[in-house]
Amino acid sequence: MSGFVATALVTGGSRGIGRAVARTLAGEGFQVYLTYVSKAAEAAAVVAEIEAAGGKARAFALDVSRAEAVEAFFREEIKEKVLLSVLVNNAGITRDGLILRMKDEDWDSVLDTDLRGPFVCLREASKIMVRQRRGRIVNVVSVVGQMGNAGQANYSAAKAGLIGLTKSAAKELAGRDITVNAVAPGFIETDMTGGLSEEVRKAYQDQIPLRRLGSAQDVAEAVAFLASDKAAYITGQVLAVNGGMYC
Ligand code: NAP
Repeated sequence: MSGFVATALVTGGSRGIGRAVARTLAGEGFQVYLTYVSKAAEAAAVVAEIEAAGGKARAFALDVSRAEAVEAFFREEIKEKVLLSVLVNNAGITRDGLILRMKDEDWDSVLDTDLRGPFVCLREASKIMVRQRRGRIVNVVSVVGQMGNAGQANYSAAKAGLIGLTKSAAKELAGRDITVNAVAPGFIETDMTGGLSEEVRKAYQDQIPLRRLGSAQDVAEAVAFLASDKAAYITGQVLAVNGGMYC
């Protein structure tokens, strides 16, 4: 694959943490392929912003919960078309509710998007990276996958599962110089958390020793580090970016 531009694939790159990751990796010199599920205008704006700064990016509509669509995307846009240096499994959703009232569909949609989606992306990326004999995979998990959270049993289970996937994949892929790590954000200011009441935000902030909510850029810096050569000897780890709220 020599002669190809090193490419970083960021799922859910149209908004929030994924957008910050896309911009940061583009700034590090990667061509960035970012995906979105419904917000085409936001994704196009991220591409335009990266290009205006002198970088290279493309946006693709891809629902990560649809395995056949993910497989087709890797076959048609990635395999033998780019040097896939980095995969950032960032796309994620929440469907909060207490266990006693949680509908099966809320369980399934979160598990499909937040765990099965990253698994299929990781599997398809691994097939390519194994042949390249190099690669970096970073999974965006969550502090609630480590500590649990009332009202987020589905989301916590998906993120805890993704931590297990990260550690297993790290062991399977290390022999081909592919590292697999996770970044576990705490409470980060994005659309995902934007709907919470002031009272709930204040309650979270009071639990954070650094006394502020995190920014998408705080998370992007950790992802960029794990995606870089500086992290060449780090694999199977979960890097918390949570202001100290869970150690
Ligand atoms: P966000 O602002 O809600 O953005 C979510 C992104 O994921 C969007 O780009 C969205 O695309 C995309 N997406 C959603 N469902 C998808 C699907 N089925 N297929 C492909 N893309 C999909 O979320 P965020 O706060 O940046 O969160 C990003 C990641 O960080 C998630 O994995 C989340 O669980 C994790 N995280 C967030 C926090 C936090 O406090 N914000 C804390 C811990 C972990 P569209 O724009 O097209 O909808």
